[in-house]
Amino acid sequence: MRALILSDIHANLEALEAVLAAAPEHDAVWNLGDVVGYGANPNEVIEKVRSLNHLVVRGNHDRACCDPPSLEFFSPAAASAVRWTQHVLTPENLAWLQHLAPGPVSPEGSQSVCVHGSPHDEDEYLFTLEDAWESFHAVSARIIFFGHTHRQEAFATNQEEQFHLKPQYSFADEPDQCELSLRKGARYLFNPGSVGQPRDGDRRAAFALYDDSSELLTWFRVPYELEKAQEKILRAGLPDYLAERLAFGR
Ligand code: ZN
Repeated sequence: MRALILSDIHANLEALEAVLAAAPEHDAVWNLGDVVGYGANPNEVIEKVRSLNHLVVRGNHDRACCDPPSLEFFSPAAASAVRWTQHVLTPENLAWLQHLAPGPVSPEGSQSVCVHGSPHDEDEYLFTLEDAWESFHAVSARIIFFGHTHRQEAFATNQEEQFHLKPQYSFADEPDQCELSLRKGARYLFNPGSVGQPRDGDRRAAFALYDDSSELLTWFRVPYELEKAQEKILRAGLPDYLAERLAFGR
């Protein structure tokens, strides 16, 4: 079974289209949430995601669009993007967001679990080995797929030691990929990175593929029509900063 792992698309249609065009063959799609927020195409992105007919875990931005009081901890730019998104969403797409299940969600027949932030909390950021340790104790799944930080990285443990892993790419502005072979007896917290608003210093759209028969996790990066996504953000009257940051991958 090969699962395409997507997270944090954030209403960036150009990035999502580039990712789907570059994605290798797969049998399932697991989406770790934050389908909307920040970008200018929430309806188009929701409709594309719905057409893939796959597993989707709710993200904090997806929740905030349906529940304004949960905006309390959002930055001013994030909060204004959520309010704009709420305003432009069709009733049907808003209803779809309202019905998304919070994580953890286990894909059928798999030894893994999907969450947005952490197994405890969709708003929690996993940045460090200490954060990872608590998550490994919270669930028994071998692989925990998580998003929310918008960074491609992984944490692994063989019960005695813990490791922090990051992809090493050969190219800066072209499509590229990096494989991680699963080790016997080890467990993983794996972040595919963000499709629509990367924050790991690489502006290319990020995603991943999990192949359980070859025990392989692969990170991918793919360039997309970034200027077009930026122009749409500016034209929509969303904060300029949300367009600018796409160019830096921060
Ligand atoms: Zn996000």
